[in-house]
Amino acid sequence: MKLSRRSLLKSSGVLSAGLALGELGFDVKKVSAAAKKESRIKNAKEFTSICTFCSCGCGMLCHVKDGKLINLEGDPDHIINEGALCSKGSAMAAIPNSDQRIKTPLYRAPGSDKWQPISWDEAIAKVAGKFKETREKHWIATEKDGEQEFTVNRTDAISFMGGAQNNNEECYLMAKMTRLLGTDFVEHQARL
Ligand code: SF4
Repeated sequence: MKLSRRSLLKSSGVLSAGLALGELGFDVKKVSAAAKKESRIKNAKEFTSICTFCSCGCGMLCHVKDGKLINLEGDPDHIINEGALCSKGSAMAAIPNSDQRIKTPLYRAPGSDKWQPISWDEAIAKVAGKFKETREKHWIATEKDGEQEFTVNRTDAISFMGGAQNNNEECYLMAKMTRLLGTDFVEHQARL
């Protein structure tokens, strides 16, 4: 067999890598079989997300194939967790892939003991209607301090609670909306 200089160097490199792995106690056959196996995330769509469980807000790398989450791991580029996830975060893939996951809003009519699925448009219209009704019913335009009366323009009947999965931009918009609606009560799960 005639070997060119290039193929000789290439094969000696592979040989020495194989020897080195063997010396370190690795089963070279298994390592080589694993290297040849096709990556399960090949052709999967990759995107980043945030863990929904606690207020640490760890970053996640997710891979989706055929509409299913097939891989979830800590995002090494995320400033908070730098690739690490706790046991809860690591198990989060069970949520999007669960057949018990609720994908539409549910409504329980007054007096009913049953939840019925409704569209997002219906849900948004119901929530907006309740906001309007509550705000108008409990609007405080002025408040007295001793003899003096001050304009306050607020309602104490509406409050907002943010969750760990809200990102900075969503929290910014939420804070703006609370000011526009006239409520002072804004809280976040991160403070609990
Ligand atoms: S991975 Fe763990 S620590 Fe990080 S946000 Fe999720 S639950 Fe919290």
